[in-house]
Amino acid sequence: MTHSKPDAPFFERIALVGIGLIGSSISLAARRAGLVGEVIGCARSAATRDRALELGLVDHVFADPREAVEGADLIVLCSPVGTFSGIAEAISTAISPGCIVTDVGSVKGAVVRDVGPHVPDNAHFVPCHPVAGTEYSGPDAGFAELFDNRWCILTPPAGADPAAVEKLDRFWQLCGAKTETMDANHHDLVLAITSHVPHLIAYNIVGTAEDLETVTQSEVIKYSAGGFRDFTRIAASDPVMWRDIFLNNKEAVLEMLGRFNEDLSALQRAIRWSDGDALESLFSRTRTIRQGIIDAGQETPEADFGRGPEQHSSGDES
Ligand code: NAP
Repeated sequence: MTHSKPDAPFFERIALVGIGLIGSSISLAARRAGLVGEVIGCARSAATRDRALELGLVDHVFADPREAVEGADLIVLCSPVGTFSGIAEAISTAISPGCIVTDVGSVKGAVVRDVGPHVPDNAHFVPCHPVAGTEYSGPDAGFAELFDNRWCILTPPAGADPAAVEKLDRFWQLCGAKTETMDANHHDLVLAITSHVPHLIAYNIVGTAEDLETVTQSEVIKYSAGGFRDFTRIAASDPVMWRDIFLNNKEAVLEMLGRFNEDLSALQRAIRWSDGDALESLFSRTRTIRQGIIDAGQETPEADFGRGPEQHSSGDES
């Protein structure tokens, strides 16, 4: 990265509530850039807490989020979105004055609604979403480069302290990310079409294949290279995390699904009426989108047949 390391830690004590893929990657990226004094972790299970210590991801780890956030100048909620409200309520009176409270949740409107009211007036609430990830979970899944050249979207509520927003923005940049500020509801619409609906389609198509009676499961697995395999990678994403995303971004997902269903019907009609021009025209436009993503550096043009040297390099994002 081109960013130079700061002279003193950006944050003296970061509390990561949740140390799975994203929490562990934040610890590794922040340490790589020399941004933190101490990293405190919190997870439900003893197995995750032990593993986080073993991997050196955290200096101390707690089961109780209240204990984990004590004295922190940055708190990051890194658990599934459905847990945020309860955690925010539990830590509310343990948040230090001046602390920045943020999260990495894949939806933002519900976070502003559920977490915001629990952040005391003398602390700063700045939600964000690093649009970077893989289909793997847990503390072993993290890596320091996860956020490099990926977008991190900040959705500060009206009246958020500009200095706190600026500090968090800089933190993410030093972790390797490119940053953008967006309204929370707009974020949810954008991510509904770029991430949430594609995941739903993947879950659905893999589910349909599993239910088929005329094609056996061994045939589905054997001949999966024809496109199905790429869907299975996305459909292997964490079930709890994705359950919570759909439950907390209902309106935007339903709106985008409405559009999707209409367009799918049009495609169905084109096939039924042998309208090759319509099919070719759409497939040409979609190729251009793919090229645009490669040109923007968000994907490489290499064909990935699942044999790349680094499994995590072909990451998926929520
Ligand atoms: P993950 O790997 O499954 O890790 C989740 C962590 O949260 C685990 O350490 C888990 O502890 C902990 N946790 C769960 N419930 C908890 C609770 N009630 N109190 C304290 N800790 C709890 O998940 P992830 O992929 O890092 O995702 C975390 C967040 O990042 C989600 O909100 C997701 O929407 C967002 N996000 C994910 C991606 C992605 O691609 N994965 C990308 C961007 C943003 P145990 O192991 O003990 O259960």
